[in-house]
Amino acid sequence: MTAAKRSPKSRIASFLGLFFPDYKAASVFEVSPKGLWRSGIRHVVLDLENTLVPYKARTLDSATLGWLDDLKRTGLEVSIVSNSPRAWVEGLLADHGIRYVAMARKPSRKAFLKVLELSGCGSEESIHIGDQLLTDIFGAHRVGMAAVLVEPLSKKGPISTHLQRKFLVPLIRLGCRLARLGDPLGVEGGGSEPKFQELPG
Ligand SMILES: [Mg+2]
Repeated sequence: MTAAKRSPKSRIASFLGLFFPDYKAASVFEVSPKGLWRSGIRHVVLDLENTLVPYKARTLDSATLGWLDDLKRTGLEVSIVSNSPRAWVEGLLADHGIRYVAMARKPSRKAFLKVLELSGCGSEESIHIGDQLLTDIFGAHRVGMAAVLVEPLSKKGPISTHLQRKFLVPLIRLGCRLARLGDPLGVEGGGSEPKFQELPG
């Protein structure tokens, strides 16, 4: 017996569904380490630029370091997967003993798969937190990881970020609207279903 073939329409809907964050938060500080642990998460995979630090920041501030410590104290594995240049990522993280992959080329699956392997955690017990629909949310969903969308810490970013915000995100949102899926950013769109799950508290 062969599996029933899916229609092109349902394939497109499944593809576009990968852009919808599972959770939405103003910043990482709304994400409770204990809440994640209680909901079965064992591994937090973080974006760096505009998620943990503003564009071109030179240090991690004390509140962010405190939140990262909370994750570790809770028993969670922590990884950073960043598309930013290696020297910048290394300069920020070298002193803090945090596992990272720089120049990750998200939404490629490669770096996500690498940190899954290094952490010893499966994708179903890992969650990615990032500020971009394409690189972070779509990228994480491609490996079966849940994803939290946070507000970017600054409007600044490299040219790739600006191109993503100006052209790709409107295109993705239009596609989702045409497919009657609603709005992946939750800004508009119909339907009575809640757009995002509530973050575990
Ligand atoms: Mg980012």
